[in-house]
Amino acid sequence: MTEHEKVVLITGASSGIGEATARRLAADGHRVFLGARRTERLETLCHDINGAGGTAAFRRLDVTSAEDMRSFVTAAHEEYGRVDVLVNNAGVMPLSPLEALRVDEWDRMLDVNVRGVLYGIAAALPVMRAQGAGHVINIASVGAYEVVPTAAVYCATKFAVRAISEGLRQEAAAGIRVTLVSPGVTESELPDSITDPAAREAMASYRAVALPAAAVADTIAFAVSRPPEVDVNELVVRPAART
Ligand code: NDP
Repeated sequence: MTEHEKVVLITGASSGIGEATARRLAADGHRVFLGARRTERLETLCHDINGAGGTAAFRRLDVTSAEDMRSFVTAAHEEYGRVDVLVNNAGVMPLSPLEALRVDEWDRMLDVNVRGVLYGIAAALPVMRAQGAGHVINIASVGAYEVVPTAAVYCATKFAVRAISEGLRQEAAAGIRVTLVSPGVTESELPDSITDPAAREAMASYRAVALPAAAVADTIAFAVSRPPEVDVNELVVRPAART
């Protein structure tokens, strides 16, 4: 394996940013291991990547289960012998005003967006520590920096991802790098989970200027491609156009 060819694990790789990142990193020569719940999508994606000369494998993953996350990392390690990069990308965004009291949706956001990231770290860190090197890339959002109406809980989860990333950066053993990537509105399936009518309508105007998911993949690829002595900590990428 050259420095260029890394083993990269991506959660939430069945659509949007995760899928675009899998395609981009595989095209760059990295071996990717993909997780999500919709395995038929992962199967098609791996088929595409392998058919184009890349190296991809997948496993069903629900990031809200610590055990599932451990099995995912173990399977990747067994498949490729290393875990160089973990992209904690899986996320959900059922926006609604707090007043609507959609407690189940709050729980889902906390489970996927916060616990999922922590479980990813818990599963990958021991392997990376044993290797003496590793790279955790957490996908937050511009919502990790500012709160907007209907997004209190979503932003809270992304503020948390930012805090966890900074804490990990400070505490992780030498050789372990931490990058937070915070996209603005990006073309993906993310708004499909919004059930609140007003929040759905508000998203429509944002989507008109959305970044292609490939632009976020490009940002992630930049962080992955830095030499081992360079730790890119935070990248914020927004559409140039304004709503
Ligand atoms: P998508 O909805 O297209 O992708 C989300 C991915 O997360 C899917 O692959 C989905 O897979 C996966 N996922 C959801 N729940 C789980 C779970 N319990 N276990 C495993 N995987 C899960 O949206 P995006 O690509 O936009 O989202 C990717 C990340 O980017 C998220 O963290 C999101 O918050 C963040 N982001 C997105 C922005 C945007 O405007 N699109 C802006 C800022 C940040 P499956 O359903 O198959 O399990």
